Amino acid sequence: MPELPEVETVRLGLERVLLGEKIKRVEVLLKHCFHGRASVLKKGEVESLTRRGKLLQIHMTSGWSILVHLRMTGQLIYVSSTEEREGGGHPDDSLINNLPNKHTRVVLSLSSGATLYFNDQRTFGSLKLWKTDALDEEPFLAKLGPEPWAKAFHKNYLGDILARRKRSTIKGVLLDQEVVAGLGNIYVDEALFLAGVRPSRKAGDVKKRELSKLMKTIVEVLERGIEYGGVSARDYVNAEGLKGKMQEQLYVYRREGQLCKQCESLIEKTKVAGRGTHYCPGCQK
Ligand SMILES: [Zn+2]
Repeated sequence: MPELPEVETVRLGLERVLLGEKIKRVEVLLKHCFHGRASVLKKGEVESLTRRGKLLQIHMTSGWSILVHLRMTGQLIYVSSTEEREGGGHPDDSLINNLPNKHTRVVLSLSSGATLYFNDQRTFGSLKLWKTDALDEEPFLAKLGPEPWAKAFHKNYLGDILARRKRSTIKGVLLDQEVVAGLGNIYVDEALFLAGVRPSRKAGDVKKRELSKLMKTIVEVLERGIEYGGVSARDYVNAEGLKGKMQEQLYVYRREGQLCKQCESLIEKTKVAGRGTHYCPGCQK
């Protein structure tokens, strides 16, 4: 599932090619993957691309925005008239195979002759149209927590939430998009490892000193994720190659049974907050 770094990688790639494009035609192949009146997209051109948490936002000069939820298996793939590719998302071979294919849900034909495909195997993702000046009122965005880099995400903010939800696990709290935007299973496990805190620890038992460290390691793992973890349609080769490249950067995620890179204990796997969870029994208390 794409987390903040993967969505940011898609955003950076599409920003190279989408600015100034006009949308000539919108084909919705699966209705529940598209919310809004498609005709509004034919006015104006792409002005900017931004991201909030795991949500990608394409802003048009007409005052409308396209909100792209990639969810479990979504992909946004740009194919130029000369077959140059950009974008990305869920790392499977649709990124390099012929498009449209059986997982294509929405097709946007662009003024340059390029095409933007929204693919989604599991169909939990969607495109949604919303007025740019009213994005604060969009139900998902209205509830979304601060970005991990935002001033609003400070020690007292998170400390108060941990105190209020003291019986929840720290992992469960960090996965909640209303607490902080963009973290998912991979980066929560990695941030907790670097902070030395077990994912199953009760939120109320996280010490002030650990909280400070955790705030830093969250940003650290996300920045490293943007550098190494995301995949773009431009440099995707195959799913196995990508797994290898990402795995080198990870300390605990999907490394159960392997040696900890810091203390040589064996990494363990358990279930916390309903999710497969990886930790080092030596480094994390
Ligand atoms: Zn260790």
